[in-house]
Amino acid sequence: MSRSPLPRVPLHGTATDPRRARRMNATQAGAFIRALAQANPAPETELLYENHFQLLVAVVLSAQTTDAAVNKCTPRLFAAAPTPAAMAALGAEGIGPHIRTIGLWQGKAKNVAALAAQLVALHGGEVPADRAALEALPGVGRKTANVVLNVAFGEQTMAVDTHIFRLGNRTGLASGKNTREVEDGLVRKCPPELLRDAHHWLILHGRYVCKARAPECWRCVARDHCNYRDKVTAPV
Ligand code: SF4
Repeated sequence: MSRSPLPRVPLHGTATDPRRARRMNATQAGAFIRALAQANPAPETELLYENHFQLLVAVVLSAQTTDAAVNKCTPRLFAAAPTPAAMAALGAEGIGPHIRTIGLWQGKAKNVAALAAQLVALHGGEVPADRAALEALPGVGRKTANVVLNVAFGEQTMAVDTHIFRLGNRTGLASGKNTREVEDGLVRKCPPELLRDAHHWLILHGRYVCKARAPECWRCVARDHCNYRDKVTAPV
């Protein structure tokens, strides 16, 4: 028997939407995040990497592209250029053919070549564990720096991507007009002991359950803690 198509639901996410979700306080936000934590106690990034440099490059390549698409091309790229010096030597012209299958590949090839050269010139070929130094690298913004600081260096940062931005506004977890407002709200409300892993839980939840067009509320482990007003029931 064929399943009915999922309903398209409004996001009710903007700050001016009268049906926006009631904001959670820190206790409520903690309960929401704990529900996700209990369902997935050891979350990890889905990007493939073997060292800090590969993580940084993979995150830069993942902008506006799925992790799966990045994982298809990085093994060949990293085999061709395993170090920052080798990547800088490969250059944008040499990097491009390895990443043609992902979005914005031409600009990303230039950025990866330039950031590799900068790592060699300014940081001894190492990825710096410092926000300002990371954000000074070509192609690296606050979100990428947050991922690297969190995953590589264990800092309690919250990288807000499109999934977390939507989730924060939709559920009442942390609303905001831009990613920085949502990031600050999540950092303020998340229990400190859960903060390091929280961005993994929230990204995975937004990617696979609380999806953009139709959240799958009927199978959501955080449903009882969510303030979204139009929870979606299971298709029949
Ligand atoms: S109940 Fe629905 S809207 Fe709320 S977090 Fe879960 S999937 Fe998202």
